[in-house]
Formats: sequence, C-alpha cells, structure tokens
Amino acid sequence: MYASVVDSIEERCGCGHDRAHPMVRPEKSYSFWGQIAFGLFYTPLPIAIRFRCGKCRAVVGAIDEPELMQKFRYREPKPEER
Ligand SMILES: [Zn+2]
Repeated sequence: MYASVVDSIEERCGCGHDRAHPMVRPEKSYSFWGQIAFGLFYTPLPIAIRFRCGKCRAVVGAIDEPELMQKFRYREPKPEER
C-alpha cells in the first residue's frame, strides 16, 4: 500500500501524539523584526507555527502558509484546526 502525500506529512512523536493532540502545543516563530515588534507592543505576523509535543518536546508538524499565519496571528490554532 502506498502512503499518500497527506500520510507522509502526518508525523507523530515518540509518545504517539500527532499535531491535533491536546498535549501538542503550537509554537509560533517570528522573524528578527517580528521579535523586535513585540517589544513595541505590536503583535507581528508569525513566519511559521510549529507543533511541539508537551511531553517529549518533539516537533510533529509545522505550517507556514501566509493565510494561516494571518488567521492565527492573535490566537492559537485549536486541535481541530491543525
Ligand atoms: Zn511526545
């Protein structure tokens, strides 16, 4: 059986959690200028969001589509949105 493209993107950490697991937390990444903007009380647009397991700290997935960065600028993606 061949793995589909989606299956190959789907990743699990050593504990078996995927990005939609409640224990897996979104972690936003910002550019250098974005980090400076935080100091000016401005919420910059993230450049990527990584999904990190809260137990083993492994990254099980990431998104960097601009429309999703805009969508999650002021909040975190819920498990069903990942
Ligand atoms: Zn884990």
